[in-house]
Amino acid sequence: MPIGWYFEAATNVSWTLQCFPRAVAQTAEFQSAQIWSRLLKLKPMETRLNHLTDMHVRFLRFLAFATLIGVLAPLSAQQPAPQGAGRPGVSVPGAPKPEDTEVWEPVPKMVTAATTPMAPPSDAIVLFDGQNLDQWVSSRDKSPAKWTVAGGVVTVNKARSAGNIETKRSFRNYQLHIEWKIPVNIAGAGQDRGNSGIFLVSTGPGDAGYELQILDSYNNKTYVNGQAGSIYKQAIPLVNPSRKPGEWQTYDVVWSAPVFNENGSLKTPAYVTVFFNGVLVQNHFEVKGETRYIGQPSYKKFDRAPIKLQAHSDPSEPISFRNIWIREL
Ligand code: MG
Repeated sequence: MPIGWYFEAATNVSWTLQCFPRAVAQTAEFQSAQIWSRLLKLKPMETRLNHLTDMHVRFLRFLAFATLIGVLAPLSAQQPAPQGAGRPGVSVPGAPKPEDTEVWEPVPKMVTAATTPMAPPSDAIVLFDGQNLDQWVSSRDKSPAKWTVAGGVVTVNKARSAGNIETKRSFRNYQLHIEWKIPVNIAGAGQDRGNSGIFLVSTGPGDAGYELQILDSYNNKTYVNGQAGSIYKQAIPLVNPSRKPGEWQTYDVVWSAPVFNENGSLKTPAYVTVFFNGVLVQNHFEVKGETRYIGQPSYKKFDRAPIKLQAHSDPSEPISFRNIWIREL
């Protein structure tokens, strides 16, 4: 509670203690005199007042003091008024009000959430629902994607003729949900064990872009800025919530695209937040540029770009994807 409020309150109490009993007493004096003058008509007014006033004044002062204590004690237990608003219940012209900081428009649009966990909400663009790859093309030549769709999942085709696939649509800022599974019979070690990836932005053929790494990191040692949940060679995941091979895993990504100046220089960097199996592994990480296998990351101007899935060249069993959807922000 501000010291000034205490001072003000103390001043008011002091004034009230001085003036209130006196005012009450004076009023009481008058009223008492009126009453008693009627009852004791035989006595002169001066004598009646001198005889009765002192007792009444003392009694009324006691009553006034007791009333004040009864009123002030609960008030002192209340929370302080907001800064600048003065005492509770007192309106001060120009002082901040609660409604000053209330925002009523624009009203967020209604979205129907999914009834089952991880299913796309009503405003999502479904990129893969288990049926076909109509939303995808080959990164190399934009021909129809050549990965294998069966049983409601799509599996990487590691044949040289297939390569990476990417979305037909281009995006800027978005929320992405994607599920992936390392095959139960996975073999290999390090980067050669279930390696794939999601290029959150594809800036060209091959592995050009910004890669969120996919790898079997359940029990597989490798460089930590290259394990599952890393922004490849830029950001180590905060923790490792990997599941066993054979179990489905999820990435939920919030991507804020970089902004470039007219001359191609960077205006503001990209930021990325990633939940891996529901666990935060990248917390609004400031991206340093395109991810690189060799060399340092750097930015290259783009506006909107596809999202790309990696067909890594390692010889381990190919991984699978399902339930891919995106919400543009
Ligand atoms: Mg990879």
